[in-house]
Amino acid sequence: MEVMQVLHMNKGEGETSYAKNSIVQRKIISVATSIIEKAVEECLEKNFLDSMGIADLGCSSGPNSLMVISDIIDTVYATSNRKGIPLPELRVSLNDLPGNDFNNIFISLPEFYSQLKMEKNIGPEGCFISGVPGSFYGRLFPKKSLHFIHSSSSLHWLSQVPRLLDSNILKPLNKGNIYISKTSPGSVIDAYLSQFKRDFSVFLKSRSEEMVVDGHMVLSFMGRVSADPSSEESCMQWELLAQALMSMALEGLIEEEKIDSFNAPYYAPSAQEVRSVVEEEGSFTINCLEAFEIEWDGGAPSNNNFQKHIDKIEKDNFSRGQQVAKTIRAVVESMLEVHFGRKIIDELFKRYAQVVGDYFSRTSAKNIDLVISLTKKG
Ligand code: SAH
Repeated sequence: MEVMQVLHMNKGEGETSYAKNSIVQRKIISVATSIIEKAVEECLEKNFLDSMGIADLGCSSGPNSLMVISDIIDTVYATSNRKGIPLPELRVSLNDLPGNDFNNIFISLPEFYSQLKMEKNIGPEGCFISGVPGSFYGRLFPKKSLHFIHSSSSLHWLSQVPRLLDSNILKPLNKGNIYISKTSPGSVIDAYLSQFKRDFSVFLKSRSEEMVVDGHMVLSFMGRVSADPSSEESCMQWELLAQALMSMALEGLIEEEKIDSFNAPYYAPSAQEVRSVVEEEGSFTINCLEAFEIEWDGGAPSNNNFQKHIDKIEKDNFSRGQQVAKTIRAVVESMLEVHFGRKIIDELFKRYAQVVGDYFSRTSAKNIDLVISLTKKG
């Protein structure tokens, strides 16, 4: 399955859209804010720029897309003022797969531009925003055209499902699972890891050609702290989704073989795996690589680095389960629909909300978000 053809976040502004269900991803962006600001400042400290190339990769649609861009422009503006230099012309590219709802972003651009004019006196000659459809696992931009690249909640998506079929016996190796799980054989885990390594290395190589020397890049994506790829922190959301699917298979609502043959094109790497791909590929220096805990429903993370946004509302496990189900549905619905059909989706996410609610009553569920800041070597 080519991810390019099946993956897109839920479009538009409706009840199940990504635009309305991306609070967790917004938290993830806020966690990285100070790292993003530092990288943007360093970009400007090192060079005098009269035109600055900025890109957000995997921008999706909804409020998050322009929130990141707005933060970046704020920092460029503040740094230029502090240094007493003119603001560079801003060339901003928003990238995602071709199936992304770019129009949802484009429609909000006039308002964004008029705010830039009002708040910072940046006019139409000062900031140019464009959409770049295509896969970031390959070249997207002209050579040496970018100074700062950002990407959040996107690089855990692989370019394709790792090939898991044992060609001799033609039987799925990852029975009953839809991602790595405790019961996955080693060959499945190896296939996932090598797909991640290949993809992330192609990503770095492509960006290194597009960036100027000393350009900066901040990436954040799902990962893990544990060395074990089947650890609960990186697999549980998929495992519970598999449980919801299996409960439907037991009632004959889904064929079990359909579950066996579905594997998510996703991988949550450890910090060490990320570090070793960067070092092997060789184009970038690592400035920092940090892990943050993010609660599944976007509640208050326990990490000391992130004290803001404390969610004081006590939600019961059931409504927290529903919240998580909405978040995950906005992300994976397109992919599940292609494989399992439209009919099962509502029922599946009803069950998923229950399964997740149950899980919350036993444990405080957290994801690990890795943030890495890189500089292009000379
Ligand atoms: N950055 C946004 C959106 C994250 S959702 C935020 O933080 O809220 C992840 C996005 O990555 C999706 O829109 C998905 O289409 C995109 N994506 C996944 N694989 C991609 C690829 N190979 N190339 C470009 N975009 C990709």
